Amino acid sequence: MTEYEGVIGLEVHAELETASKMFCACEVVDSTSAEPNTTVCPVCLGMPGVLPVINQQAIEFGIRVGLALNCEIPDLNRFARKSYFYPDLPKGYQVSQYDYPLAINGWMEIDLPDGSTKRIGIRRAHLEEDTGKLTHVNDHSLVDLNRAGVPLLEIVSEADIRSAEEAEAYARKLRAILQYLGVNSGDMSKGVLRMEPNISVRPVGSDEFRTRTEVKNLNSIRSLARASAYEIQRQIDLWESGGEVRQATMGWDEARQVTVLQRVKESAEDYRYFPEPDLPVLEISREWVEQVRATLPELPDTKRDRFMSEYGLSRYDASVLVAEQAVADYYDAALSAGGDPKQVANYLTGDVFRQMNLEGRDRTEIGAIRLTPQALADLVTLVQKGTINHGVAKKLLETIYAEGGDPAALVEAQGLAQVSDEGVLADAVAAVLDENPDAIERFLAGEEKVVKFLMGMVMRAMRGKADAQIVQRLLAEQLESRRE
Ligand code: ADP
Ligand code: MG
Ligand code: ZN
Repeated sequence: MTEYEGVIGLEVHAELETASKMFCACEVVDSTSAEPNTTVCPVCLGMPGVLPVINQQAIEFGIRVGLALNCEIPDLNRFARKSYFYPDLPKGYQVSQYDYPLAINGWMEIDLPDGSTKRIGIRRAHLEEDTGKLTHVNDHSLVDLNRAGVPLLEIVSEADIRSAEEAEAYARKLRAILQYLGVNSGDMSKGVLRMEPNISVRPVGSDEFRTRTEVKNLNSIRSLARASAYEIQRQIDLWESGGEVRQATMGWDEARQVTVLQRVKESAEDYRYFPEPDLPVLEISREWVEQVRATLPELPDTKRDRFMSEYGLSRYDASVLVAEQAVADYYDAALSAGGDPKQVANYLTGDVFRQMNLEGRDRTEIGAIRLTPQALADLVTLVQKGTINHGVAKKLLETIYAEGGDPAALVEAQGLAQVSDEGVLADAVAAVLDENPDAIERFLAGEEKVVKFLMGMVMRAMRGKADAQIVQRLLAEQLESRRE
């Protein structure tokens, strides 16, 4: 049977968090909470005879993204009209860029689950204006034009992505870069970041590009991954059964977890692109580009490499920590609070993430959990000083995650301090051995695994607070002494 691979190129639309809109002075507001149609003016409402003005901050944000994605920023930029009719587009055309985009020919490195990395080409990034937002209620459609004219950066990758996992890794890395640059919150559920994969499949080893489909309506990275996996399999099945993939726009049905046909795709000619006559050609000076480059913040890859070299973290742990800016900030704060870098990383990527998953919390919300960076740092320090053991620390972490609190105070109040007194522990071991003569016999007959059982019995007798290393040594000694 033929083995297939996915061929995916991603189109990502990122609203830029500028103060005002792309071509007018209207404020950019959260379109999920602001009163509809309150931040609008004749320009973004598309009234005849008005003149747009280019928002300099939007250009600068675009340059930032272009540089972070290793793109060239050409000298000349030109806006173009993309004509089409839709009720959320009051002008009947969208001002976009076509033949002279803001940024071209870049690349981004993605981190794959197996620890390897891969370079994905960035074809272009261009500026445009967002459309309004339609809400369908029963048999009515409501339009909110607060979003119309909000600066939007479209980032188009090369078709270098080969699987749903790679698409997910690309999405995560790009979202992190946009967050680090301070140009986009990365909140896909609010629609400020939208990702559309173009997907085709081909036999492994071939370099052909078969007909592709484009999937829309993805409101999380998880949906992007699932929809890509589904669409890849759907196309493989189609080719394998003698059918043919038709170029089309698909939607993702979140409830049924399937892609559904939305419409047969239009081509560039249908848009009748032509240069926007109301805007000048934009010249971008090399000085400006270099100024922007000099002010770029530390980006995820650099931060990851620094976490590895400065703190001795594994590549995997480091890339997990930098993947969300909120997580990286939390980690930094825990280290500032005196936590050991490696131990904090272990508890954070293990126990803390597990609690967040159980609660169904996204990692972007880590700043809001009850377990503060200071508390995590203190907890780790208590373990390192030998005040509490690892098992107690895990339980305490759960408690503080749920209810908040100060680790040292809780250890004190609940009497959780580790017991290291050899006399006390030796008595506990002896008592457990006396109660389990059959276990001793099995040990003496060569059954090593009963040690684990006995260890558990001692820890239980000590209410989990015993120093496990000492117990282990005492247990071995006392078992040996019963050989005679
Ligand atoms: P359009 O302008 O019609 O959307 P583009 O040529 O700009 O088309 O490509 C859009 C995206 O689709 C890019 O990310 C590109 O890499 C990707 N793409 C192009 N051809 C294919 C294909 N055969 N399979 C998968 N992705 C593709
Ligand atoms: Mg497209
Ligand atoms: Zn306006």
